[in-house]
Amino acid sequence: MTEKTGRVLRIEKISLNDGPGMRTVIFLKGCPLRCAWCSTPESQQFEPEVYYVKKKCVGCGKCVKACKQQALTFNSESKTVVRNRTRCVNCFDCVAVCPTCAQGCYGKDMTVSQVMQHVHRDEVFYFHSQGGVTLSGGDILCQPEFTQAILQECQDSGIHTMAEMDMYGNYDRIGMLLPYLDAFFVDIKHMNGVEHEKWTGKKNDSILANIRRASKECIKDAIHVRVPVIWGVNDSEENIRETIEFCRELSNCAELEFLPYHRLGRSTYDYLDREYQLPALPTMTGKEIRDKLAFLKGMDLPFPVHFASNGTETE
Ligand code: SF4
Ligand code: SF4
Repeated sequence: MTEKTGRVLRIEKISLNDGPGMRTVIFLKGCPLRCAWCSTPESQQFEPEVYYVKKKCVGCGKCVKACKQQALTFNSESKTVVRNRTRCVNCFDCVAVCPTCAQGCYGKDMTVSQVMQHVHRDEVFYFHSQGGVTLSGGDILCQPEFTQAILQECQDSGIHTMAEMDMYGNYDRIGMLLPYLDAFFVDIKHMNGVEHEKWTGKKNDSILANIRRASKECIKDAIHVRVPVIWGVNDSEENIRETIEFCRELSNCAELEFLPYHRLGRSTYDYLDREYQLPALPTMTGKEIRDKLAFLKGMDLPFPVHFASNGTETE
């Protein structure tokens, strides 16, 4: 039987923010949502994408000569390479000749065994820290068979498994992964359907319905709900209270975590010649998010509430 192949964005080692202990995080390509604040825009498109990092470029011009589509020109004033994305066919000839990796490619195809080689190299860290593997994206539900095969291999090796899922669309893909997950993260971005579509490009009906159903079918306390709190988007008391009431009704909600808005990944939009969709909002500090959600104090909830501090550490 042919081994399953999937499209991987990158594999990060020794992450401390994506589940218990030290974890290997496998980021997959492809996502149906287009959140305006997305910090990994390079994960959104399923197809591999060419990018350009100005500060690494030495102006040798090799990429311009290599491009058969004449999609590249060298701007001698700014001393940068300019890509005409309408001409570019993502052949990656420019990437192959660039001596400094200023031209690069997001995404590559890997077999399950190739992914598992990375996982097995990190196993010693899992053992000492009670860690494991987390599948992330993009949205892993864009590649359910590949994800399932990796999770199954991890489970067979006794490795703790987690995943981050958008929960959008057909439930069957979620149901097929639950037996292989020890726990999983779900994001709730907005409780109002119109606002959700405005800021992410998709309605939230299937997301909320899928979270409810998964909460009944998953193992005990498997669901970790995360809310990215964005200035002026979903930070109203009304929306936060609705989110909490939604979580209160879930079976098996292990925790609710609020993540403050940050601008990590902002430069990736430049590498991809894309516009960052939000205006120039300041990063939200841990204190600001705690002050903003001070009304939560004294609420009697069946799960703990956490506030992350700027995307790095949970307080
Ligand atoms: S990916 Fe191919 S077509 Fe696009 S700029 Fe590079 S060489 Fe040209
Ligand atoms: S090949 Fe690389 S270093 Fe040379 S001009 Fe192109 S991007 Fe810059």
